[in-house]
Amino acid sequence: MNRRTDRDLTVASLNLSHIAGSISDARIGLHTHLARLDGYPGGGERLGVTATAELTTVEQSAQRRIALSTLADELDHARQHAISAVYALARKVEQAQRLTAQVPPESPALCCNGQGGKEGVVEWGDPLCVLPAVKGGMCQMHYQRWYRHRQELGIDTSRDFQPGV
Ligand SMILES: [Zn+2]
Repeated sequence: MNRRTDRDLTVASLNLSHIAGSISDARIGLHTHLARLDGYPGGGERLGVTATAELTTVEQSAQRRIALSTLADELDHARQHAISAVYALARKVEQAQRLTAQVPPESPALCCNGQGGKEGVVEWGDPLCVLPAVKGGMCQMHYQRWYRHRQELGIDTSRDFQPGV
């Protein structure tokens, strides 16, 4: 399988880098506004004014406080969630790499396995040859021996180079 970059993940990580640069400012901004609302004087200006359908400044302040506080909580939660997701993903990738590393790679074809059943193998072959098969299912040397053996016997070797032989 080709080693390809995950585009979605790359775009997400670029976004994450961008967010990481501004999230602190966003959090500080929210908490600064909340601190200012906490110090709100309590509507001294309007205590004597008859309440109307419209919100008093104290009520407006309370609503704004809830909105800011909720957003600050959601921001912290989403931040934590993103961090956890990155670590969870890293663990899964590592787990997959560890599991697949335990599976031995496909062993290359060996010369000794390619010799079996060939004409006169007891004369030219070597059942212990573990060199990789490069020609006719055998190593170069045993292929040559097999070739010469057949030449001596007058066996046609012209088809040796057909694909799959
Ligand atoms: Zn060999």
